[in-house]
Amino acid sequence: MNIDIELIQDSKLNTVDFNNLAFGRIFTDHMLVCDFANGEWKTPKIMPYGPMLFEPSARVFHYGQAVFEGMKAYKDDNDDVFLFRPDENFNRINKSGERLAMPTVPEDVFFEGLKKLLEVDNAWIKKGEGNSLYIRPFIIASEGAISASPAEEYKFIIICSPAQSYYAGEVRVIFAEKYSRSADGGVGFAKAAGNYAAQFYPTSLAHKEGYQQIVWTDASTHEFLEEAGTMNVFFRIGDKLVTAPTSDRILDGVTRKSIVQLAKDFNIDIEVRRVSVTEIKEAAKKGELKEMFGSGTAAVINPIKGFKHQNDTFELPEISDSYASFFKEKLLGIQYNKLEDKHNWRVKL
Ligand SMILES: *Cc1c(COP(=O)(O)O)cnc(C)c1O
Repeated sequence: MNIDIELIQDSKLNTVDFNNLAFGRIFTDHMLVCDFANGEWKTPKIMPYGPMLFEPSARVFHYGQAVFEGMKAYKDDNDDVFLFRPDENFNRINKSGERLAMPTVPEDVFFEGLKKLLEVDNAWIKKGEGNSLYIRPFIIASEGAISASPAEEYKFIIICSPAQSYYAGEVRVIFAEKYSRSADGGVGFAKAAGNYAAQFYPTSLAHKEGYQQIVWTDASTHEFLEEAGTMNVFFRIGDKLVTAPTSDRILDGVTRKSIVQLAKDFNIDIEVRRVSVTEIKEAAKKGELKEMFGSGTAAVINPIKGFKHQNDTFELPEISDSYASFFKEKLLGIQYNKLEDKHNWRVKL
């Protein structure tokens, strides 16, 4: 496949303090852009990262036709670069796009484009614990026309941002009682930009009460726990791990899927089934709720220290042999090429 390449004149690399990176604020020297017009994807371009021109009427601004992905590249001690289960991200961006009536990104544009981009910006991938390159592929409706119908022109873009290990501080959550993230038949399973926009306001209300995140419940009864903020959610009751099954309301997270598999590999009792608010509150009252944590590419695993539902608040106990740290260590070990990878999740570039 042809890729047009325009390299930057002066790299920004030396201006970046890699020991003090705020998440998602610094971008690498280059980006990949591929246009879709007249029913086909054009030749992808790698060009200097920078502002782009759009018609104010571009449909993405009006109707939210936008989907994205989040993945990471890791460098091991030998300077080899790895991705983690990238097929999952490729399939998911197209599944998300299909739901928003967008054209499918071809496999070679996605993989060869990404590979070339990571080659060009290889020096931005730092080795060492916690360092990675966060990769953000996305598709937007770029056509300038505000009739309320799917666009005929799109852009598939990949930008990359150097990241350090992510620590969100102590996280306490509110179980949602009023607002919902997604509903049956909706777009909850898609990484659609609008899902995030709709979450900001309820989450800001939670912040005012001193909680960092919301655990979303099912939209019809608010009785079943579905996702923690923008992460999938796990509960440890006794020594049993429980997580909700994916559905059209729940995003099929790669981290979640990998934890479910690792639990089976290490003979940890795991149940994929609906989890009710009542069950979790009862378990917390009896002291059986040992852990809650969120899972996702950016933070890998984020432990949750406590939760609120109606007027009840609960604190989880300090725990030494936590599943959260067990799975985090296993996942990072596989991602950084330090542990055996028996499911071939790692992909070397
Ligand atoms: C991206 C995302 C996740 C986590 O998915 P990963 O593939 O593990 O990064 C979970 N929930 C929502 C809503 C998401 O957007």
